[in-house]
Amino acid sequence: MKLSIGHLYPELLNLYGDRGNIACMKKRCEWRGIEAQVTEFSLSDPVDFSKLDIVLLGGGSDREQQIVCTRLQSIREDMKAYVEDGGSVIAVCGGYQLLGHYYETGDGKMEGLSLVDLYTVQDSPRLISNIVLKNSSIFPYEIVGFENHGGRTFIGENKPFGEVVYGSGNNGKDGKEGILYKNVVGTYLHGPLLPKNPHVCDYLLSNALERKYGKGELSALDDTQEIEANRYIRDRFVK
Ligand code: GLN
Repeated sequence: MKLSIGHLYPELLNLYGDRGNIACMKKRCEWRGIEAQVTEFSLSDPVDFSKLDIVLLGGGSDREQQIVCTRLQSIREDMKAYVEDGGSVIAVCGGYQLLGHYYETGDGKMEGLSLVDLYTVQDSPRLISNIVLKNSSIFPYEIVGFENHGGRTFIGENKPFGEVVYGSGNNGKDGKEGILYKNVVGTYLHGPLLPKNPHVCDYLLSNALERKYGKGELSALDDTQEIEANRYIRDRFVK
């Protein structure tokens, strides 16, 4: 079995090392004897979504998002078809905001991909914090991470990635964080989201394998240390 992972625009969207998520997906595939091929796309490269199983769109500053946003309009139709067909996407922070209809800042409105029904409006202060989420219908234990965003995101009646147990989440008000739409995960959790949360990594891998081979079961790995680290963070912030 083989999964092809596409990393969109890492030269612009790689804040806090979002690339660590790629290393984690690759390693957890390899440990199970699944081949994982990673392709990095820079702004001028064409993207053939029919060859991809998982796409990572990382985070970036407003300036970098603005540059990417213009380019995204030209891949929008193909990416929409990929998402509607069940293609997996993990979009982090700036990338998450760009999945929606728009991101409005003091400097104007950036048009998003409109792949998912959400929108984002900038406000102050920035929401900077460790964060803990819960989504027990899908994930066996909490999701831990770090958030740093000025944007407030509103997802309407869509399913969130998790309920906020500690931290701010989408907008600091409604107790929701991120979004789940088909096999798309959008989240504000930055940096090494997947190494800290191997259950989220396996969720993405399993969905991608299910779509490609009709079989999403993954063999168990020894995650004792990862789970211990996850528990440690959870216990620091949740009493
Ligand atoms: N520029 C966006 C914001 O501040 C996203 C930042 C990020 O990716 N950390 O809301």
